[in-house]
Amino acid sequence: MSALERQLKNSIRQNGPMNVATFMDMVLRHYYSTRDPFGVKGDFTTSPEISQMFGEMIAIFLADTWVKMKGPPKIIIVEAGPGRGTLMADILRTLRKMSEFYEAINIHLIETSPILRQKQMEALKGYNVQWHDMLQTVPQDQPMFFVANEFLDALPVRQYLCEAGSWRERVITLTHDDRLVFDVAPGQLKLSQCPKMKGEDGDIFELSEARENFVRDVSARLQKQGGVGLFIDYGFDQPAFGDTFQAVRDHKYVDILSDIGEADLTSHVDFAKLVTVVGPAARGPVTQGAFLKHLGIEERAEKLKQPEELKRLAGDDQMGRLFRVMGICHDPQIKLAAFP
Ligand code: SAH
Repeated sequence: MSALERQLKNSIRQNGPMNVATFMDMVLRHYYSTRDPFGVKGDFTTSPEISQMFGEMIAIFLADTWVKMKGPPKIIIVEAGPGRGTLMADILRTLRKMSEFYEAINIHLIETSPILRQKQMEALKGYNVQWHDMLQTVPQDQPMFFVANEFLDALPVRQYLCEAGSWRERVITLTHDDRLVFDVAPGQLKLSQCPKMKGEDGDIFELSEARENFVRDVSARLQKQGGVGLFIDYGFDQPAFGDTFQAVRDHKYVDILSDIGEADLTSHVDFAKLVTVVGPAARGPVTQGAFLKHLGIEERAEKLKQPEELKRLAGDDQMGRLFRVMGICHDPQIKLAAFP
């Protein structure tokens, strides 16, 4: 039994059944701080690891917004959960060619994993970068250009199961012979947090306070500092029930309770909810395919002769439709590129 599994079991013995969010939080802290999980040799592959065009399109989006803001002389670019630092490296390589904007930039990364910080340092050698454990320490005195790709899906989520018309929290507990299993706790969902739709027995409702709080904090910062935010992730844009909690190891789905700490845990992002958290400043979400095409990825793919990369990032049957992009901008005068 791994040290992590022992720690989880001890916690359940001492404090009782553990909700899905606490489980996810403990497991992912271990997972991300002990490996580089990306790419063919890792567990999963993200858009920036598929193609440089992903970062190039985001760079174009940021530069376009900066021009629409009339070119503030000092801004910060902030990325949450930068992984290997590939996206930021691609963004900066592209922005270097736009000297006026490039001169205005300072870079801040929010990352908790020491191993991934090291990777980011290597990928961004030569750039002036500052690291943070959380958004709270990022400077507040300049417009912020914020980006996060596949970050929200890594923040913990709770699950509730509909039983006889009420929502009971899903938990993880121990059997008599010391195995971890899913169960439901007596605790019910606060009325104010209940889904608007009526559930039927067996429906699962997912709720992530961590994601909502993070997005709310970014939005409040943008309101105060000015700038723009982009959250890119897979998820849904209409309220929906369903169990999307999943474990992926070596590019395959595995049992959540069997490869503990060795598989990535995620769940789909509820953009419908996040739009209500942000309010009128929310733009979109639009699909990743529509976003990238609007910014010119098809022309770029032709030039680079990369039709396969284009298909993977923007194809409807690949990442183009399931992945969505939500923008945040509090200035109603600014019409962001690629958003209606
Ligand atoms: N954006 C990258 C990596 C996505 S994986 C890409 O697209 O390739 C999730 C990233 O978020 C990792 O870098 C992980 O270490 C980081 N992360 C996860 N939870 C975090 C938290 N609570 N605070 C800061 N970073 C976190």
